[in-house]
Amino acid sequence: MTDLSQVALLGMDRAELSSLVESIGEPGYRAQQFLEAVYRQRVESMDQISTLPQQLRVSLAEKGIGIGMPRIEQRFVSQDGTVRYLITFADGQSVETVWMPEGDGGEVGDGVEAGDTGDGSAARGWGRATICISSQVGCAVDCQFCLTALLGVKRNLSAGEIVGQVCAVLKDQKVSPQHDRVNLVFMGMGEPFLNYDNFIKAVRLLVQEVGLAESRMTVSTAGIVPRISEFGQEAIRPRLAISLNASNDDLRTKLMPLNKKWNLERLMAAARDFPLRNRERVTFEYVLLHNVNDLRENAEEVVDLLRGVRARVNLIALNPGPGIDFETPADESVAAFQKILRDAGILTFVRRPRGRDIYAACGQLKRTVEIATAPAR
Ligand code: SAH
Repeated sequence: MTDLSQVALLGMDRAELSSLVESIGEPGYRAQQFLEAVYRQRVESMDQISTLPQQLRVSLAEKGIGIGMPRIEQRFVSQDGTVRYLITFADGQSVETVWMPEGDGGEVGDGVEAGDTGDGSAARGWGRATICISSQVGCAVDCQFCLTALLGVKRNLSAGEIVGQVCAVLKDQKVSPQHDRVNLVFMGMGEPFLNYDNFIKAVRLLVQEVGLAESRMTVSTAGIVPRISEFGQEAIRPRLAISLNASNDDLRTKLMPLNKKWNLERLMAAARDFPLRNRERVTFEYVLLHNVNDLRENAEEVVDLLRGVRARVNLIALNPGPGIDFETPADESVAAFQKILRDAGILTFVRRPRGRDIYAACGQLKRTVEIATAPAR
């Protein structure tokens, strides 16, 4: 038998749990009990799996088999109800995960809010919520306006660590996708398409075992073109969002150096070829930087770029941060940019910043310790 020290159940699928159960000489139905306990009940220790005989719980712990639930290290609560969690894994590395009651302001018009009535959830103070999760510790992509980029990439998260963020937050908020309307966005720290295998395994576990709807999940990529195509072929997949952020190659290469490798022509070709489902659209995120990419001509170039794509656009006014050398545009420039796109028939929304006061908004996630010591702004 292989060395089972430090084995985490969280992250294992049905097949893996079945072979684990077999390897320790337990009956096959234990796999189902583990699935229920880990993904539905979201237990934190072996001891809490009440369906297992006491003796087995002890012997599993002795064999070094544990749940692998990440630890909530800190919570920062914003005036707007957003909670930024600092979540720590077994090796001491940590990421940030964000809970946004009432959604992230980005779903309006994309159909996920349809039927949002009368199920009693309003009585709880929120009709729906969005969890924003991380896929890597840090990020390698180096977008010039993003705080996470300053960290560089430390490592990929495992599938269990990705799912674990969701389980930890659902547990902390006393929420379950069976009873509450929960959206999920892969828009936290890291580039999910540079950790593709773990990301997609996490998606399957979240859909099949935790019970989240794939139509309520969105993954955002900075534009890893080959992975966009691969992602389109997945049987179970979230919606796709692409961080566009610039309207021509010169500008995009300056803001997002990865554009040298996968330029706008290749990116837009991948977006046009992406196999969309009924009523689905590709979301394009566009961070507006004052006097850099927020001018009339930029909006007109975006209109040209999006021809032939079933698109929706989310405009995000820059969320500022220490070490970020750009300015947030005035509300009027954001509105003017939106109007040009809308007048051209493009579905365009302005994303409301969430939790800016606690550094929880887009592009502000960075390990808290470093935020705490960064110069105040
Ligand atoms: N790496 C993926 C997932 C992160 S999503 C991606 O790039 O898509 C984070 C979103 O926040 C991206 O759309 C990004 O363009 C945006 N963003 C980054 N920094 C920001 C900032 N300072 N203000 C507002 N939005 C920002």
